[in-house]
Amino acid sequence: MRIKKGKFPGVYVFVDEDGSERIATKNLVPGQKVYGERLIKSEGEEYRIWNPSRSKLGAAILNGLENFPIKPGSKVLYLGVASGTTASHVSDVVGWEGKVFGVEFSPRVLRELVPLVEERRNLVPILGDATKPEGYRALVPKVDVIFEDVAQPTQAKILIDNARVFLKSGGYAMISVKSRSIDVTKEPEQVFKEVERELSEYFEVVERLSLEPYEKDHALFVVRKP
Ligand code: SAM
Repeated sequence: MRIKKGKFPGVYVFVDEDGSERIATKNLVPGQKVYGERLIKSEGEEYRIWNPSRSKLGAAILNGLENFPIKPGSKVLYLGVASGTTASHVSDVVGWEGKVFGVEFSPRVLRELVPLVEERRNLVPILGDATKPEGYRALVPKVDVIFEDVAQPTQAKILIDNARVFLKSGGYAMISVKSRSIDVTKEPEQVFKEVERELSEYFEVVERLSLEPYEKDHALFVVRKP
């Protein structure tokens, strides 16, 4: 049983006794579990196993993501933070030098995040509607990365509207696209092509990755603001 460095800074690989491998992040708040994940101690540090069935970003990393712009020290705007499952791993990766601004429009869901952020102070919960970035403009500075997982029909437009306001030039965005949220009647491939076309009107599309088998009919795009 051991922890080794992974392909990206801040993302580790846990090798279990049977030789199987999982991804993990170093726990910014030792002792804190966020969604029932397994905690591992190794050489005086604590790590949290990152479950790809609970996190689309985790699924993307396991599926061979090549570009992971979230790094130690990054400022990240996270749209659709929900109760913080994935955002907590992002918070681990960016560390105390970084910051994660998590926007969520459901007060009930956001309430679950509150006890978490009392100690995890680099994660800032914001009650807001991602379709209206002006509503949280005063709370969020320019960021290095935007991550979006809102499962809405207008997700590409939401990303572009937020990138115009908050993303630095040369910054990256990642978006998880659920084809059925956009159009249930179309083939997922058709939907992904249309999303790619829309994103490429504003961004340079760097990578597109399927999230199968973890998430059916989902793709993750990595894009860059020129
Ligand atoms: N990213 C989360 C994770 O991996 O832990 C899961 C996000 S869940 C699929 C989508 C979330 O987006 C829901 O909590 C939903 O309430 C939120 N959401 C949907 N539309 C939104 C909007 N316009 N503004 C803010 N949040 C929104």
